[in-house]
Amino acid sequence: MNSIDEKLQPVLNTVIHRNAGELEFHQAVREVLESLGRVISKRPEFAEDALIERICEPERQIIFRVPWIDDQGDVQINRGFRVHFNSALGPYKGGLRFHPSVNIGIIKFLGFEQIFKNALTGLPIGGGKGGSDFDPKGRSDGEIMRFCQSFMIELHRHIGEYTDVPAGDIGVGGREIGYMFGMYKRLTNRYEAAVLTGKGLSYGGSRARTEATGFGSAYFVERMLGTRATSFDGKRCVVSGSGNVAIYAMQKILAFGGVIAACSDSDGYVVDEAGIDLALVKEIKEVRRGRISEYARVKGAGCHYIKGGSIWDVPCDVAMPSATQNELTGHDAKTLIANGVIAVGEGANMPCTPDAVQIFRNSGVLFAPGKAANAGGVATSALEMQQNASRDSWSFEETEQRLATIMHNIHDACAETAKEYGAPGDYVLGANISGFVRVAEAMRALGVV
Ligand code: GLU
Repeated sequence: MNSIDEKLQPVLNTVIHRNAGELEFHQAVREVLESLGRVISKRPEFAEDALIERICEPERQIIFRVPWIDDQGDVQINRGFRVHFNSALGPYKGGLRFHPSVNIGIIKFLGFEQIFKNALTGLPIGGGKGGSDFDPKGRSDGEIMRFCQSFMIELHRHIGEYTDVPAGDIGVGGREIGYMFGMYKRLTNRYEAAVLTGKGLSYGGSRARTEATGFGSAYFVERMLGTRATSFDGKRCVVSGSGNVAIYAMQKILAFGGVIAACSDSDGYVVDEAGIDLALVKEIKEVRRGRISEYARVKGAGCHYIKGGSIWDVPCDVAMPSATQNELTGHDAKTLIANGVIAVGEGANMPCTPDAVQIFRNSGVLFAPGKAANAGGVATSALEMQQNASRDSWSFEETEQRLATIMHNIHDACAETAKEYGAPGDYVLGANISGFVRVAEAMRALGVV
């Protein structure tokens, strides 16, 4: 289960050699290649024409300088990235991440995962990703705007409704998308709404897009729990993070009858024995743009804040890592299992380390990999593109209903594929194979390009 087919080992060797030091990218590729041995023995045509090697090499990588002026009048320089990974199924699609940890390896791991995630949605979108090492923390609104404008002055040459459609990710939400769309519109003199998704409702955004990633991950896990004749109802859940994904995962878990015991940010985590008060988290994070430590200060009794430490020490039935990559280690996985966890759903991209994933898969815990569980965000982005193309705007209910159906379909495709390939219940295998087969079939049809 955890080894690479000998025919695929040279592909991984090439990736490691060609992308030296890009550890997260190696990690993401290795995980997919580990799943593909079963595919090439059943469908040997996918091993022809260097198809798998081609899928691991981005079609195009763009790296650029982003100069901007801070509030003190000083010039700041950041690095911008956009990786056009695979366009077999549609225009490149994927978010922009603004975070100091961003480098080309991080963007490539995210772009690579995006190919298979987007394929799983069943919608016509290829895979791409971008961002910058810009740190938005503590920056004024004016600084954010000037940075976004400078970023778009370069990025606009590489994107377009039929070429590449960026959206948000960590550090990029509605405010940033608005500033970037404004500059794109000015530079091109075109109101090309479908060039970016995650837009505000007043200028072409989709209802339920803000909620979609978190809601979608909760829909996926609810369906997965259903395979064991259970549900979120009455379950104690721990959701790491308190950004866009975590907040709306918590909201849907609460609607499904679950209780949220703890959430976090990059400084620490907060445990509330009465259940996390989501309205307060939203006020702190979405309105004040503050830190989660404020939660415990406001709430007081029955609730405590732990600076640093691991949120996975908090006992729970369902764990939803929804902060960032490699935030849940093998040690954390063992702690969660010892504390009786029954399901883990990745809200973030690759939040569990490879050994954590292996421990969950071996232990019989239900495990939903991010590229399937968090696909609701990008799926709703594709719905936003559909609405823009038809100059239409759907109701919240209609959009959410489509999201729910897409998540159920992704779940079922992963479950059925895992069964078909001899590993029932293995959602990692099911997601990797099911996403890969869709892309590989299109790539074969399009020839060697
Ligand atoms: N950044 C999100 C993801 O990781 C959404 C991308 C999009 O909507 O294009 O899938």
